[in-house]
Amino acid sequence: MALNIVEVSPRDGLQNDPADAPVQVKVELILRCIAAGARRIEVASFVSPKAVPKMADAEQVLEGLRAAGPLDASLIGLVVNERGVRRALAAGVDEVNAVVVVTDTFSRANQSTTTEQTLAALGDLIGASHSAGLPISVTLSAAFGCPFEGEVPLGRVVDVAAAVAAFGPDEMALADTIGAAVPADVRERIPPVRGAIGDVALRAHFHDTRNTGVANALAAYESGIGTLDASLGGAGGCPFAPGATGNVATEDLVYLFERSGITTRMSLDRLIDTSRWLSGELGHPLPAMLSRAGPFPGGRSAMPA
Ligand code: ZN
Repeated sequence: MALNIVEVSPRDGLQNDPADAPVQVKVELILRCIAAGARRIEVASFVSPKAVPKMADAEQVLEGLRAAGPLDASLIGLVVNERGVRRALAAGVDEVNAVVVVTDTFSRANQSTTTEQTLAALGDLIGASHSAGLPISVTLSAAFGCPFEGEVPLGRVVDVAAAVAAFGPDEMALADTIGAAVPADVRERIPPVRGAIGDVALRAHFHDTRNTGVANALAAYESGIGTLDASLGGAGGCPFAPGATGNVATEDLVYLFERSGITTRMSLDRLIDTSRWLSGELGHPLPAMLSRAGPFPGGRSAMPA
């Protein structure tokens, strides 16, 4: 089974970076990721600019990408409500990713609604996306732990997953938003969640906050998950989750999987080049290990550059 990586650095990565990346840097980052082999990219978040100032330029990023001509990738817009879906559709995204936070306290902090209130509005979000002919995925945020409530019972995650699946999204993502999970949690949670969502595709989203992100990614793959979110350089975090740090790094995953004989269809050399370029643009080092250490001695890439 090949591993598909959804690149999330332009959104999850830059949203919480201390630096303010201008539109042209975001556009270049996305184009470089496509050149490195990324085929699905979360490019922007269509949320209130007051809540997330770094994503206020979502429309301009899409404009810049469309001006670059036809792209060999699906551009994903993140939304938390119906206004966001309308904006994302008008801006010309290729797919939508909605968020349902599994715990009420974090849900209020992230999107000013309880989990139940988010679920009540979800049908309209999914309907709006499908009416426009676009696929929509739903991320179950804080599915392994909550920054405010701590432990999140598996039963709660399964119940929310089943409720989301009933609305008929094209895909769902199980997200460790605060990087609290260990591989045993991943192995424990994936089978019952899968059981609760029928034939809806499932992907996973890990943060490396406690140095377990890469181990969790492998555990997810070994539990049958063929699509993982990752962020170039390991950039990222969440402005509404205290202490959350970066996503699992794209180049670190590509190294791990390719050296294990599992294709990712991505060029490790180009990813490392782009990660180092991004670090320069942001003006600080990024946490990814591969871009510090370099590839395997002698340089065997996944896809010759
Ligand atoms: Zn995240």
